[in-house]
Order: sequence, then C-alpha cells, then structure tokens
Amino acid sequence: MSRMSEYVRPIVNASKTIFEGMVVTFANMLRKPVTIQYPDKTETPVRQQLPPRYRGFLEVDLRRCTACRLCMNTCPIDCIRIDVEKNEEKKRGMTVFDIDLGKCMFCGLCVEPCPTGCISFTPEFEGAALNSDSLVARFIDDGDFILPAKAKEAAGIEPPEPGSIVRKLLKKMQDENPGEQGMMDKQLHV
Ligand code: SF4
Ligand code: SF4
Repeated sequence: MSRMSEYVRPIVNASKTIFEGMVVTFANMLRKPVTIQYPDKTETPVRQQLPPRYRGFLEVDLRRCTACRLCMNTCPIDCIRIDVEKNEEKKRGMTVFDIDLGKCMFCGLCVEPCPTGCISFTPEFEGAALNSDSLVARFIDDGDFILPAKAKEAAGIEPPEPGSIVRKLLKKMQDENPGEQGMMDKQLHV
C-alpha cells in the first residue's frame, strides 16, 4: 500500500461512517415522535391497553369468599392474612383479609386453588408509594365481620369489573396515607 493511500483511506472511512450516522440522525429528525408520555398523556389509559390475562394487583370479592384460607396457605411468601373468628352468636366470619401488594410476586399460586374464583388478578398496577406499609390492601375494615359465602351461592354471583375493588381500595389507602396523596392522585387519574 502506498503512503498516500495509507493516509487517505482512514479519512475516507471516517467520512463514510460520519455520513451514515448523519443519514440515520436526519431520518429520525423528520419522523413523528413515538414516545408515549406516561402516565397521564396517553389517549387510552394504560390499564385498558393490557391483555385480559395481565397479572396486576390482586383483589378479592368478599361476596364470593368462603373463608377457606386456601389462598393464604398456598402463598409461598405469606402475603395474605385472613383471620377467621366466631362472633357472639357462634357464627364463623372473617375479621381480616389483607394482601401485601408490595410483597406479592404475582405468581398466581393463590388464585389457582380458590374454589369460587373470588381472588383474581386485575389490570391495576400503579401503586408506587412512599413506604411499603401503605401497600397492604385491607379488604375488611377494622371491626367488620364478614360471613363466609356458601360455594353454591357464590357461583351465582356476577363477578365485578376487574380492578374495581382494588382501585377503590388504593384510593382509600391514599386517604389513610396523606403524604402520598399527590403521587397516588396522579396514578389514579383523579
Ligand atoms: S400471587 Fe403469589 S405471591 Fe402474590 S399473594 Fe398470590 S401466592 Fe402470594
Ligand atoms: S379468596 Fe378464595 S381461596 Fe381465599 S379464602 Fe376466599 S374462597 Fe378461599
């Protein structure tokens, strides 16, 4: 190779590379942006764009819960707490049904054995919080006593719109943790 071509070849290669790079740059400068402004600038809320089997936060429809505690006993990392007690009339009922949404790994092991299908995944996923305690979803209020459903009767109850129960609960959790108001307001589009 002559000394001239040794000198010229790297310059040609560098110019070619810069030219190719600039072609890509200018082509993208003329394209419409494809970035989605999340969370509040999408035309359709993100939760409505998710596939039907998406595993978002769990929710429980207590109208159909038999208090069998299969879900609680199946969870490998103890996310679910269900307390069952007897009242003065010796009736059995639930006083606590909590799911730690911050701890849950969305494995679905609790959903599989539920005899009535009342514990299920939802399209809700926006739960950023300032502390992990505020991610414990309490499906039964303090002092409430929820009688278990009979499996046969539960089968006749129409399931709610997926996410409607946990969405209300997230709003309540926000009210109970005022420090997180701004963050959750934004997430829940309220
Ligand atoms: S999805 Fe898995 S980790 Fe979450 S509560 Fe159910 S069993 Fe536990
Ligand atoms: S949610 Fe289902 S599995 Fe869990 S206690 Fe209720 S009926 Fe049983």
